[in-house]
Amino acid sequence: MTEKIAIAVTLAAFIFLILRLVRQKRSRKKYEAEVNAWKLRLEMDLSQAKEERNRLLDALGDAFIIVDSKENIRFANSAAQELFRGRALIGRPVREAFLDPRLADALLKCLDTGKPVQSRVVLSQQTSPLGAMENRGQNAWIIDAAPHSDTPDGNRNTRVVIRDVTAEHQLDQIRRDFVANASHELRTPLAIINGYIENLLEDGMVEEPDMARRFLSIMQRHTERISRIVEDMLVISRLESGEASAINIEPFKLRSCVNDVLERLESVIRNQEAIVSVDFLNDQAMIQGDRFYWTQVLFNLVENALKQNPHAGLKVNIGCEDTPDLIRLWVSDNGIGIPSVDLPHIFRRFYRVEKHHSQLEIKGTGLGLSIVKRAIEAHGGTITVTSVPGRETKFLMTIPRERE
Ligand code: ADP
Repeated sequence: MTEKIAIAVTLAAFIFLILRLVRQKRSRKKYEAEVNAWKLRLEMDLSQAKEERNRLLDALGDAFIIVDSKENIRFANSAAQELFRGRALIGRPVREAFLDPRLADALLKCLDTGKPVQSRVVLSQQTSPLGAMENRGQNAWIIDAAPHSDTPDGNRNTRVVIRDVTAEHQLDQIRRDFVANASHELRTPLAIINGYIENLLEDGMVEEPDMARRFLSIMQRHTERISRIVEDMLVISRLESGEASAINIEPFKLRSCVNDVLERLESVIRNQEAIVSVDFLNDQAMIQGDRFYWTQVLFNLVENALKQNPHAGLKVNIGCEDTPDLIRLWVSDNGIGIPSVDLPHIFRRFYRVEKHHSQLEIKGTGLGLSIVKRAIEAHGGTITVTSVPGRETKFLMTIPRERE
C-alpha cells in the first residue's frame, strides 16, 4: 500500500515537473518573441530617426560634415556632397577631401584642441572646393567646427558647417572698391583746389586780380565736379537701397521725356552740329515708371554720345518700339564707339575708356552708365550695349510691362 502511494506521489511529482517544464518553455518562447519584437521596433525607430535626422541635415543650405577622431569623414549632408561634387566623401580623410589645406585647417585645429573653431577662408577660383567647376571667381567660406559627441567606443566626433559667403564677400568687395574709387575721384579735384588756394594765399597771387579770377574759375569747375560726383553717388546709393520709396512709379509718356532731354541738350546739339533723330513707332507710348530716372537715363545716354564725339555731323538716334508685353528703347550714335575690351566693364562704377584725365578736360564722373543701369534694373528692365566704332554704338533697353 505504502509502495503504491510512493509510486503515485513520484508520478505526480514527475507530471508536475513536466508540466512546469512545458510552461517554462512556453513562457521563454513568448519572452523571446517579445524581445525580438522589441528589437525590431527599436531598430525601425532607430532607422526612422536616422532618416529623419538625415532629411533635416539635407534640408540645411550649408554643408554639414561629421568627422571622427581619426580625421575620417563619417557623414556628409547633400549640400556637402554638392560642394565637393564628384568626390566620394564618406570614409575619406579630411585632408584628401578638402583639397585646399586652408579649408581643413579650422577643422583640424578643432580636432587637435577639442575646442570650437570658426574661421573665414577666401579662395581663388582654382583652389575652391569645386575646382574648375567654380565660376564665380574668388569665393569665400565660413568654416565652423565644434566637438559633437562621444561615441560608445570612446571616440570623439566633430561636426563642421561650411557656409558659402561668396555673395556677401563680393558685395563687401564692391563696397570697398566704391569707397576707394570715390575717395580717389574726390581727392584729385580737392588736391587741385588746394594747390590753387596755396598759390593765391602763399604765393601772393591774390594780389593780382586777373590771375586770381582765372584761378577761382578753375577752382569753381573742380568744386562743381566734386558736387557732381557726390550727387551721382547719392543717386546710385538710393537706387541700390532697394527701398520701394526710391522710385516713384506713375504712368507717363516716354516721348515727353525725350523732348525734355533734347531741350536740355539743345545748345550742345546746336554747337556740335549733331543730327538727332527720334524714331517712335507710337508717339503716345506710355511707361509705368519714375519719370525723373527715365529722364536721367536718356539724358546720360544722349549726353555721352555727344560728349564722346565733339565733332560736327554726329548722328544720334533715339528710338522706341512698344508691344503689349514690353518696351524696347534705344539710343545709338555713329561716333568713335567703345573698344570691345571695354564693353563688358562699361557699366561699372567710375569706369572710363580713356583713363587719363588732365585738369583741363573734365568730362564726366564715370558714374553716368552705372546710374543708367541701376535705374533700369530698378524698373525690372535690362540694358545691353553693342559697338562698331565709327558705325553704330547702341544702348538697348528692354523693360517688361508687368513688373515682377
Ligand atoms: P562718364 O561720366 O565718364 O561719361 P559713363 O559711366 O557715362 O561715365 O561712361 C563711361 C565711359 O563709357 C565713358 O567714359 C566713355 O568712355 C564710354 N562711353 C559711354 N557712352 C559712349 C558712347 N556713346 N560712345 C563712346 N564711348 C562711350
